[in-house]
Amino acid sequence: MSSRSLQLTDSLYDYILNNSLREHPLCTALREETALQEMARMQISPEQGQLMSLLIKLIGAQKAIEVGTFTGYSALSVALALPDKGRLVACDVSETWTSIGKKYWKLAEVEHKIELRLAPAAQTLQNLLPEEGESFDFAFIDADKRNYDLYYELCLKLLRSGGLLLIDNVLWSGAVAELTIQDEDTVAIRALNSKVHQDERVEVSMLPVGDGLSLVRKK
Ligand code: CA
Repeated sequence: MSSRSLQLTDSLYDYILNNSLREHPLCTALREETALQEMARMQISPEQGQLMSLLIKLIGAQKAIEVGTFTGYSALSVALALPDKGRLVACDVSETWTSIGKKYWKLAEVEHKIELRLAPAAQTLQNLLPEEGESFDFAFIDADKRNYDLYYELCLKLLRSGGLLLIDNVLWSGAVAELTIQDEDTVAIRALNSKVHQDERVEVSMLPVGDGLSLVRKK
């Protein structure tokens, strides 16, 4: 079993943070404010934000989409990594949550890169298609799990060839591997994981980062 991923103990996780995390001070402040919210666990982890930021730079992304913004931590991480002319379309339905992020986007001077669309994400993505199909470099899906398949299909259409799609929560606290668990969210995530695995339109790597993160490259 020596070649499989490590079990992350608390001390090893702390080691990773202490030896690799370079969090922007405003990301830290936003994370601390989000921690006071009831739904705080919906936020991505800081090392995941850093990974996303690195990936944005690696592929030289200029145009990005995010499905599920919550309090804006991932949007802040992405926007900080995008070039000054870059653009992130951030989709969410909650004015309350996203208004927390907006303060930090402004303080970090990246608000001009973030276009927040407060509407059901499927509708926003659909509206982008006629004029901006196959033009996005990067997409991140982290919203209601029952619509994951729909978001996946729409994001694939919006991405250019060679574009990168990240899907969050693909391991769903381990529930995906427990076949006795059959609630709608788990079933939806499991179905998409299996579809992506077989999908000839993409290349994939499923990482045990955070709650599971799939990296999907559109061919
Ligand atoms: Ca998530």
